Amino acid sequence: MLIIFLILGLIVGSFLNVLVYRIHTAEELFWDRSKCPHCKAQIRWFDNIPVVSFVILKFRCRDCQEKISWQYPIVEIFTGIVFALIGWKFFVLIDTASWLPTAFYLFAVSSLISILVYDYLYLEIPGSVLWFSIFLTIIFGLYSDGMSLLSLENNALNLLDTKIYPGVLGAMIAFIFFFSLSFFSKEKWMGMGDAYLVIFLGLILGWPEILLALFLAFFLGAFYGIIAIALKKKKMKSQVPFAPFLVMGTLITLLFYTPIINWYFSLFIG
Ligand SMILES: [Zn+2]
Repeated sequence: MLIIFLILGLIVGSFLNVLVYRIHTAEELFWDRSKCPHCKAQIRWFDNIPVVSFVILKFRCRDCQEKISWQYPIVEIFTGIVFALIGWKFFVLIDTASWLPTAFYLFAVSSLISILVYDYLYLEIPGSVLWFSIFLTIIFGLYSDGMSLLSLENNALNLLDTKIYPGVLGAMIAFIFFFSLSFFSKEKWMGMGDAYLVIFLGLILGWPEILLALFLAFFLGAFYGIIAIALKKKKMKSQVPFAPFLVMGTLITLLFYTPIINWYFSLFIG
């Protein structure tokens, strides 16, 4: 079953590469055939197979021989792996109630990966993708809570057991924290785009899970910074996009929150 999620992820990853590029160049999103960004030749359908075509073409465009960016297969493989993990974590074939959450989380991680790539390439967060995703996440939360309410006999749903309440709480706290960082540093420490991004992350993860995601983001960011400075790739002051770290922290939290927390507390209990 997981192989199906993996293949679906490879295909979606291939689409996300195109999506990011087309949002940036403001091109038609869906019905145009893919073109080589260098020579503009249309890419033949048999050259458009995720990962496989890349290897067969020996990393070059068939028409102009220009090198194809490593970004393409990396994003495809990464999306494939994340899709397989979402399938492993949320999907149960015989439990139809798991289908909609699975579909939602596949959408959410696709959106997160496109934001990661976009910010990495262009130092900016694509507002259209972000606000649409926030809107859909709220709809999903309300729908899930509505369904849970209907399935309960006494209609007594604990607030903390809902999706929407911890989601909004996590989103608000994270937003206030990042908004302050951005506002008081005049966007030197943190961009305003990151403050809007954590609204989405808070809604997906909820409170207190969002805390782990933010902690991991700062940890990964600091780790990357130390390595980059040690390798003299970056100077102390050079601008590093932060959304990739926020997205990585969120993906890790979404998939492995419970084992990480259990491991963390086991350190103290022994
Ligand atoms: Zn070309």
